Amino acid sequence: MVTYSGKAKDVIVLNNEEVQINFRDSISAFDGDKKEELAEKGMTNCLTSVKLFEILNEYGFNTHFISKINDTQLLCKKVTILPVEVVCRNISVGSFCRRYSFEEGIKFEQPIIEFFVKDDEYHDPLITETVAVQMKLITENEAILMEAITRAVNEVLIKIFDLISLQLVDFKLEFGRTTEGQLFLADEISADTMRLWERKTGEKKDKDRYRQNLGDVIVHYKDILERLNSILKLPDYKPLSTVQVIIKLRKSVLDPAGEVTFRSLSRKGFKRIESVRLGKSAEIAFNAVPSSELQSEIEEISEKILSNPLIEDFELKIQHHSEKSEKSTLMKNR
Ligand code: UDP
Repeated sequence: MVTYSGKAKDVIVLNNEEVQINFRDSISAFDGDKKEELAEKGMTNCLTSVKLFEILNEYGFNTHFISKINDTQLLCKKVTILPVEVVCRNISVGSFCRRYSFEEGIKFEQPIIEFFVKDDEYHDPLITETVAVQMKLITENEAILMEAITRAVNEVLIKIFDLISLQLVDFKLEFGRTTEGQLFLADEISADTMRLWERKTGEKKDKDRYRQNLGDVIVHYKDILERLNSILKLPDYKPLSTVQVIIKLRKSVLDPAGEVTFRSLSRKGFKRIESVRLGKSAEIAFNAVPSSELQSEIEEISEKILSNPLIEDFELKIQHHSEKSEKSTLMKNR
């Protein structure tokens, strides 16, 4: 029984834990205005997703992929798909250039992360993290994790495609939530959901071939898959998530040292200061990709070991580093 039928895939719920995803030969663009059936498209996208999910699992990401049933069907973890998708851009192209009237083909100094609401009727509008959280589409922790995971996936995929002479221009990720509230990468990762250019010539290898009627769509999709399958050894990737824990005395607890500092500053003429509270901070580095488990572990360490829950509050700042990039986001207040 097909429980959900999308534009290119059918999902069948098998039990409380698992779903079966069937990849069809349908291809569509422009919110379904242009659509067609292309022989072997389902198989090619299914096998490309298998390969990329296997690679991401290998590097420690939580993905919904469990196993391949056959060349067009996957067994996946049952999750609730979040109504927000994340796009990561390394080079300017597509809707970004139309939205901002920006030149195509410009390499960004830092990858750009954008959130979009999944809503065909409104053409998947861009949304800020703040609004997505206020609209209760995702939680604050999910927004932060989704961005950190997407940055880390980008770093891994750039390395993978670099090995096979392809340039990762941009891609879209979807996330799902388990009943326990853990985040998993979901949906598919294939030439339908990313832009890949031939490194030497800039030739388009992805769904833009279909969008722009360039022809030979499946020839290029299959070539990507063959190149992925030719990878014998995965590249080294050292994830590094650092967390700054800021520990502060609870508002209701007296802070004599802060009081002394406040009086001293007032005496020195700093008249606009209202009050001073002193705290401490710790920085912890984890050799792990961002995940719900890591987030829980960090909270546990902060709550049980670094702070005294009777008198202190803590605030976390999580940063995801790699060899190249650095990005910080405020995480959460207890
Ligand atoms: N993308 C996708 N599904 C969507 C929207 C975008 O897989 O519903 C992918 C798209 O293939 C590209 C990246 O996300 O790799 C960025 O797409 P963009 O926002 O530029 O939109 P487009 O130009 O495709 O309208």
